[in-house]
Amino acid sequence: MAQWIEGRVVENVHWTENLFSLKIDADVDDFTAGQFTSLALEIDGERVARPYSYLSSPQQRPLEFFFYTATDGVLSNALVKLEAGDGIWLKQQSNGFFVLGEIPECKDLWMLGTGTGIAPFFSILNTDEPWQRFENIALVHAVRTLADLRYQEVIDDLKEKYGDRFLFQAYVSRELVEGTINGHIPITLEDGSLEEQVGLKLDVDRSHIMLCGNPDMVKDAVETLKERGFTKNRRRTPGHITIENYW
Ligand SMILES: Cc1cc2nc3c(=O)[nH]c(=O)nc-3n(C[C@H](O)[C@H](O)[C@H](O)COP(=O)(O)OP(=O)(O)OC[C@H]3O[C@@H](n4cnc5c(N)ncnc54)[C@H](O)[C@@H]3O)c2cc1C
Repeated sequence: MAQWIEGRVVENVHWTENLFSLKIDADVDDFTAGQFTSLALEIDGERVARPYSYLSSPQQRPLEFFFYTATDGVLSNALVKLEAGDGIWLKQQSNGFFVLGEIPECKDLWMLGTGTGIAPFFSILNTDEPWQRFENIALVHAVRTLADLRYQEVIDDLKEKYGDRFLFQAYVSRELVEGTINGHIPITLEDGSLEEQVGLKLDVDRSHIMLCGNPDMVKDAVETLKERGFTKNRRRTPGHITIENYW
């Protein structure tokens, strides 16, 4: 069984009213990019734990996580109050199959995330493996407002490092922002406008699609992709679609 260990908050970065990131020092076991661990705090005498994806890649320290403060959310509303030096519990061992080892050979990798669902993609993209395996990688981040589009400096670094092989597209649903798509991912998978904007075709013979975050987005996107001939990726029957639902 995974052990709880105590880590220490190095920094709490408050991005917006309900987005923040924690940088944490903790002696966790090795993990694979794309995996999650559990974080916990003692709240009213009880240890409250929830799963969180690593945003940092395995070699990066301090560890980093990206959070949304859920309305009335018990743990996220306690995590947001942490300050440098505060203690936090982490599971020493990580979990999860949202990792490149589960992705069959293909040419183009699509990473589609909503909100904090971008985290595991950054963990993966800051390792060498995806750049050794795939010809092109398209990262798609869907948020509500321009202020929610965080970590643009990571995206800029990836663009600089990998040039035309790295494609990025943002969606902002509640504001009109130049260069972004005003809407939601599933509908643009159906009408082809995402591919048009990105300049890369989704193709059953070339593409694999990873989806992470809001379960409604994941469900609707999977339905649309299935209609286009893409199949769910399972160990016994490899396919094109690999998912991680956050709730
Ligand atoms: C594998 C996995 C990885 C996860 N990784 C992250 C992560 O990296 N960052 C993160 O913020 N959350 C992540 N979550 C969600 C996280 O575990 C908690 O559910 C979330 O922080 C809310 O906990 P809470 O106690 O504050 O709220 P609760 O009282 O448990 O309320 C849960 C409700 O909050 C909403 N909610 C939960 N997570 C989110 C979210 N990320 N964005 C918007 N609304 C949400 C949903 O409506 C959900 O029903 C992950 C979940 C899973 C299963």
